Amino acid sequence: MSVQIHNYDVVIVGAGLAGLAAARELQRAGKRVAVLTKLHPLRSHSGAAQGGVNAALAEDDDIELHMFDTVKGSDYLADQDAVELMCNKAPETIRWIANMGAAFSRKADGTIAQRPFGGQSKPRACYAKDRTGLTLLQTIYEQCERENVTFFDEWYVADIVYRDGVVSGAVAYNIRNLEPAIFAAKAVMFATGGYARSFKISSNAHANTGDGLSIVARHGLPLEDMEFVQFHPTGLAGSGILISEAARGEGGRLYNSKGERFMEKYAPEKMELAPRDVVSRAITKEILEGRGVGPNKDAVAIDLTHLGEEIIMERLPELRDLAITFLGQDMIKEPIHIAATAHYSMGGIPVDIDGHVRKNPDEIVRGFYAAGECACVSVHGANRLGANSLLEALFFGRHVGKHIAEDLDNNLFEEPKVSEADAQTMLDEIAFCLNNNGDERVPELRKELQESMTANAGVFRTEETMLKQREILKDLRARYKKIRIDDKSKTFNTDLQEAIEFGHMLDYSTFIVEGAIARKESRGAHYREDYPTRDDKNFLKHTFATMDKEGNVSIGYADVTLGKFEPQERKY
Ligand SMILES: Cc1cc2nc3c(=O)[nH]c(=O)nc-3n(C[C@H](O)[C@H](O)[C@H](O)COP(=O)(O)OP(=O)(O)OC[C@H]3O[C@@H](n4cnc5c(N)ncnc54)[C@H](O)[C@@H]3O)c2cc1C
Repeated sequence: MSVQIHNYDVVIVGAGLAGLAAARELQRAGKRVAVLTKLHPLRSHSGAAQGGVNAALAEDDDIELHMFDTVKGSDYLADQDAVELMCNKAPETIRWIANMGAAFSRKADGTIAQRPFGGQSKPRACYAKDRTGLTLLQTIYEQCERENVTFFDEWYVADIVYRDGVVSGAVAYNIRNLEPAIFAAKAVMFATGGYARSFKISSNAHANTGDGLSIVARHGLPLEDMEFVQFHPTGLAGSGILISEAARGEGGRLYNSKGERFMEKYAPEKMELAPRDVVSRAITKEILEGRGVGPNKDAVAIDLTHLGEEIIMERLPELRDLAITFLGQDMIKEPIHIAATAHYSMGGIPVDIDGHVRKNPDEIVRGFYAAGECACVSVHGANRLGANSLLEALFFGRHVGKHIAEDLDNNLFEEPKVSEADAQTMLDEIAFCLNNNGDERVPELRKELQESMTANAGVFRTEETMLKQREILKDLRARYKKIRIDDKSKTFNTDLQEAIEFGHMLDYSTFIVEGAIARKESRGAHYREDYPTRDDKNFLKHTFATMDKEGNVSIGYADVTLGKFEPQERKY
């Protein structure tokens, strides 16, 4: 099949909040922009966000306090210039999306209501009931349609065109019929979302397979801070489907099998509203020490019954439905069973404050940008605070869109040079998955990956568990070469797509594990039982790792941008 070549000023990969916010800016600036997405835009994981989006709006709140909470929450690994920019622009970002029509929940006086979230000094999360992400995504998607942004829905991006330090296009195929194409552009932006799908218990959508990250890494470009994976304290027992932090924000209390409100031991001041890493470790510890609830004793209980039916139905209706559907437990009548679930990716594609992808700590890749969860700018450092990532996706998506428009106006780009041959890597990958005739099955390999990542590189890590995981990954990589898929057709071939996605999961999981082995300290979401304290002398730095053609990862480091907040011990 011949390879079509399309030409645009800008190609954006991903149609969640970050991709759409950028697309709208670029289209309004008169640029020719195409958005490629493997899902319909409204199915992007942004739409699953429940709890809220932060901004210091209230009279008794303060932008500097939002910055401080974010930096402290990050365990001082966040880059403080990026945090300052995002927190300063948060109120404006909320007004911008509200003025476009996002229907936030409001107080009786008409102002936007805000709920408390973990690690925040004030109630700061603006929300739309418990379906905040969907409200924001629908609003911005509508605005993109209104501006006539060009969408290529259900196109799978498998590669980029990268030569001599310049990115000049994305290589993709149409999921409907396997038609290959190259989207040549002066600027390519990745907004491909997170990577928590490599864990068994995960709150992430099936699509969050970290494709964007592995595509970048396969070109020898670095990934940053990949060892920092956030485990959310409250996933439904068994599946990990999210029960938003709004449940703790609205007053949820955690109990173990002895009926003890165990957070008293772990965070006596903030209790359930300590940050996610602290609460996830507390829950996991209670379970590991035999004080879990449920048939397998692998959960603890969150009690919301004291809120009463009216408040639950007004503020948490979706959460109630989820617990009834997946556990048969009604939070109005009884406590529901939850456990920690892999949730968010702090690490990602390293970018500077304006979204340029970094080739190494001192140099950028020309024509290449990233924003949202796939990027590491880094506003979350070692641990993200709840409701800061919808803010990141909206603010940085828009900000990077504006910067691309400026870079285009300043003629920083050469005309992209692409040819059909640039699709060869993708065509080889497709041919391998379709034609390889081994005896390994992708769903089985994926199950082994997810189970072992949860067991060995999860909430608690040690040298021993991670060296074991390193070997498991090597074995899975060797077995991946021997896969066979059943569906050989060209029509909506999900077998093929899952095989390609699994390759990506293997690659970025190697970064998670190698980064975690090298980081001999505990910081934020990365907790080493064999190195339980933070070590600023040796590890107050970002991991910058690269992968060679054989899949071996080498670790390097880059400086953290410090600022007015001096590292202190983190207590809640
Ligand atoms: C259950 C859940 C609840 C959450 N709740 C909150 C909350 O209350 N507050 C908060 O601040 N944060 C929350 N988060 C986090 C937040 O929702 C995400 O970090 C944010 O929405 C990510 O937006 P994004 O635009 O970067 O990516 P996404 O919305 O994940 O979009 C990724 C896009 O990339 C596309 N894509 C990926 N790979 C490819 C490929 N190979 N080819 C083509 N397209 C591709 C997808 O189709 C999709 O359009 C939550 C996350 C989850 C999982």
